[in-house]
This record gives sequence, C-alpha cells and structure tokens, in this order.
Amino acid sequence: MSRMSHAIYFNRKQTYLCALDVDGEFHKYEKTRDKFTCIFCGVKVQFSRGKEHNDPHFKNWPLTSHKNNCVIPIIESQKEKHENVGEVELLVSTILPRAKRLNSNQTNLSVNRSKKARVFAGKRSKKFIYSLINLLDNKNYFKIKPEFEELQLLIEDGSTIKLKELIGSQDEIIERIEQSQEKRAICILRGNTRSAQIIKNNIKIPLTKGNNPIYKNTNDFSLFISWDYAEKNKEFIKSIENSLIVCYGEATTNEFGTQIEVYSIKNQITLLKKYK
Ligand SMILES: [Zn+2]
Repeated sequence: MSRMSHAIYFNRKQTYLCALDVDGEFHKYEKTRDKFTCIFCGVKVQFSRGKEHNDPHFKNWPLTSHKNNCVIPIIESQKEKHENVGEVELLVSTILPRAKRLNSNQTNLSVNRSKKARVFAGKRSKKFIYSLINLLDNKNYFKIKPEFEELQLLIEDGSTIKLKELIGSQDEIIERIEQSQEKRAICILRGNTRSAQIIKNNIKIPLTKGNNPIYKNTNDFSLFISWDYAEKNKEFIKSIENSLIVCYGEATTNEFGTQIEVYSIKNQITLLKKYK
C-alpha cells in the first residue's frame, strides 16, 4: 500500500503536515496519532516512523481503504497490469517529492538542506532506484523497456508523472529545468561519470560531454557532494567514477553549472556499468 509523505491533522484542510516534521517532533503527536487523514480523500491514515525510525510516512489503517475516487487506489491499480513484476508495486506506491513544497516552508538554509537530504537520500530512495533499474533494458543502452514507459508515478500534490518523463540524460534534464517554473527538476539522471575533483573540500563528479546531439550529453553536468556530506561518502566515490550510473535527486542550475546534489551515494546512485 502507498506510503504518503503528507497528511491533514485535526481536519485542518489548509495545512498539510509532512511526515518528516511529525517525526522531528514526535512527542507532540504521540497521543493524537488517530487524527491524521488522507490529503486526497479524507480517509483516516496513520503515522509510522518506519523501520529503525528511519523512514517516517503515513499509511493506511488496517481494513480502512481510500475512497474509490482517491488518486492512491487509482495509481495503485497499475499493479494489476504488471502482475508478475514485483518492482512495479514499489514504484507505484512511492510518492515523489515535489520541489516547490520543499522550498516553501524552509526556515533557514541548513534546516532545509538536512530535510532535503532525508527526502532524497533515505533508504526508500535506494529501494526505488533498485526497483527501477530492473525495468531498464541492459541490451538497449539501459533505456526503459517499452512496456514500462507509460507507468504513472504519483507526486506529492496528487499529479502524476510518467516514468519516461522522470529518467533522462543530462541534456534532457537541463531542458526540463528550463521549462519548469521553479528552475529545478526532480529526476533520475542517467549518465557517464568522469573522475572526481575536490574543490574547496566539496566533491564534484563531472559527467562526460560530447558534441553529438544524438547522445544528449552536450552540456556540462555534474554530481555535487558538499563538504559537510563528503566524509560520509568518501569511501564510495571510487566505485562510481568512470561509470555509467543512474542518480536520483533534484537537479538545479546555478553559477557553477547544472548539478544534482548527492547526500548519500549509497542511497541515491546505482552503478549500471564500470568502464575502468
Ligand atoms: Zn486517499
């Protein structure tokens, strides 16, 4: 069943509570855990801190289903079409964060960044990418197998995105950033990495670049690990250099070029092929 990232509390319809925030102040909600409802259909949902208190989310109460017109059962009904593909179940029951909301309630830069790290770099991300790579065709440049291209994934605000619109090469992702209002894109980047560079204690891993537009890698793009996350990730850098990888995260463009910030190599990046 779907894990929801947000819920309504005590029927206050104008504010959505984020599971990460409830987890952060769990003592405040402990006695009123039955006061959460689905933001889409209003049915009662429950808060869970997840395994080892590592993965806060809202989920169904036992024997309480969402209403028929709620987006959650609609998106989950896709499982029936792909009955023997276990990965589809996990993909359709993961709700992707939308950049806009993350930005709107920030109090200061560091709070916002550590929240982003939890949103994009939790264990759920790792499961999500692992499920996804099994739907790629390793005999055809790791493109999505045609039968899964149209698979719909749910975004926090209840809108959907097709799997084929989520994955992309560096040029395709840059195009999506330019088209978006917030100038950022939640995406799964597929690209070839070069060797890592250390710039003022931050780690930058540029992607290879070419001139042939067919390969969709004509623009600068890099993975960026900020100094405060460098120590935690140091031991995994070698394993993703000079490789074909997929990386889940939020791509943005700033004065240094277009990049995805990586908080956890282990949970955000998966290796498809190692070149040397
Ligand atoms: Zn619902």
